[in-house]
Amino acid sequence: MNLLVLGPQGSGKGTQAKRISAAHRIPHVSTGDMFRTAIAAGSELGRRVEPILASGELVPDDLTVALIRERLAAPDAAEGFVLDGFPRNLAQAEALDAMLEAIGRTLDAVLFFDLSDEVAIERIHGRAIEEGREDDTPEAVARRLAIYHEQTEPVVERYRATGKLVPLHAERTVEQVSTEIEDALDLLGEGAGA
Ligand code: ADP
Repeated sequence: MNLLVLGPQGSGKGTQAKRISAAHRIPHVSTGDMFRTAIAAGSELGRRVEPILASGELVPDDLTVALIRERLAAPDAAEGFVLDGFPRNLAQAEALDAMLEAIGRTLDAVLFFDLSDEVAIERIHGRAIEEGREDDTPEAVARRLAIYHEQTEPVVERYRATGKLVPLHAERTVEQVSTEIEDALDLLGEGAGA
């Protein structure tokens, strides 16, 4: 199963992507986590992206696309993946399409976490206190949300137009959203005759 989760910061997509990954035994591929791991390891990639993450800006597309291309080619992604944090703009979405087409795979569904900015911001503040993530400063959060509206919302519309978008009520509890996702994935399975 090849899945994508899309939604603003604080929408709960990372939490749900981890649950889907465990339940369906497919890797959770999070570009944000991959960059943070590189930073913690002090690798060349990490040193390059550290100031970018701290500012809330996007890492250049060439770096991000190359990272994802390599990750999706790894053996554990052969049966599927749940992609989180990518694509974040139209150029990345086009690169993903081309990448999947080249290996003869398609996205089964794009789970869209729909919630208001008010709720998203409240949740990010909660997370900032709990996790102490370095890029959860008010400035970086505001920048990430602005980029989401400018650059990622067009990606949502692109997938809506293909009929792959599955809108979720993301203001509900983790359990409720999880149930909504599993129901949607069951329907997909039936549609595919599985
Ligand atoms: P959030 O969902 O809270 O914005 P992420 O963990 O998804 O956090 O991303 C953290 C940061 O990593 C982003 O602000 C950006 O700098 C970088 N990043 C993650 N994914 C991408 C991507 N697809 N393209 C460019 N930069 C990215």
